[in-house]
Amino acid sequence: MSGAVYVNGRITSKQEAMISVYDHGFLYGDGVFEGIRVYDGRIFKLEEHLDRLYASARGIMLEIPLDRTDLRRAIIETVRASGLRDAYIRPVISRGPGDLGIDPRKCAHPTVVIIVDAIQLYPREAYERGLRMITATVRRPSPDALNGRVKSLNYLNNILARIEANQAGVEEALMLTGDGVVCECSADNIFIVTRGEVWTPASHLSLLQGITRDTVLGLARDLGMPALEKIFTLYDVYAASECFLTGTGAEVAPVVEVDGRKIGDGRPGPMTGRLIAAFRDLARRTGTPVYAEEAPQRR
Ligand code: PMP
Repeated sequence: MSGAVYVNGRITSKQEAMISVYDHGFLYGDGVFEGIRVYDGRIFKLEEHLDRLYASARGIMLEIPLDRTDLRRAIIETVRASGLRDAYIRPVISRGPGDLGIDPRKCAHPTVVIIVDAIQLYPREAYERGLRMITATVRRPSPDALNGRVKSLNYLNNILARIEANQAGVEEALMLTGDGVVCECSADNIFIVTRGEVWTPASHLSLLQGITRDTVLGLARDLGMPALEKIFTLYDVYAASECFLTGTGAEVAPVVEVDGRKIGDGRPGPMTGRLIAAFRDLARRTGTPVYAEEAPQRR
């Protein structure tokens, strides 16, 4: 079986996996999710993703009906059932089936879904020549609306930004806060290199605090690069010597053009290259083993 889906305790094929149309995840986007990678039979940063999933659920007052040990086990078993060694895992916890009103008190049983499937990646050329992006007109919601740190099923802002990128014929869209400060992209975090320092927007700006972002901040420091969480504007992006994106799917992906302006010399930069190599090395060396024959976790 290629790909497997866990739905409320049962693992099925992706064709058979189903939830109710009364599920408030479907009706209202009322739920949270994660996106996790499996590299060569090992789940990358599983504990960090579990931390963020439970934190997101707390943020929307949703109680995940499995404790951490059981959810971890369900994730590992679903990957095993998929038979995949390189995969994408998508746990989704929704408020569950209710009635047609928004009241979550009508939803007695949250839905737990874990999808394991092949991963869609940027093409290899994107890493060699670099990505192009535009700034979206749609802004990030302010932190006193639904905080962007919650990885919720409400992705419409991001989708609207992605539509702008599609219409402009580029790969990603950069999103600003309501105050015009650089925040994050539609599905990735952004970094710039400026005067030899690595900068990424500070997490209190209502951005998704990416697991890849945090990993790259650590790797940059290990490589002796000053790595800082900052407040900065589009001008800093245009004037940067390098720019790159981070995300579970993208890993570390160079950006060579923003809003029609070349970044640096218009080619993927050297610090970005070192971070791409360091990230790939870490992803292939570490993680929670899925298959019984694997050696215990190496860190
Ligand atoms: N920002 C947004 C809006 C995202 O959806 C994602 C995940 N695709 C990221 C950033 C990157 O987060 P992570 O590194 O945890 O995948």
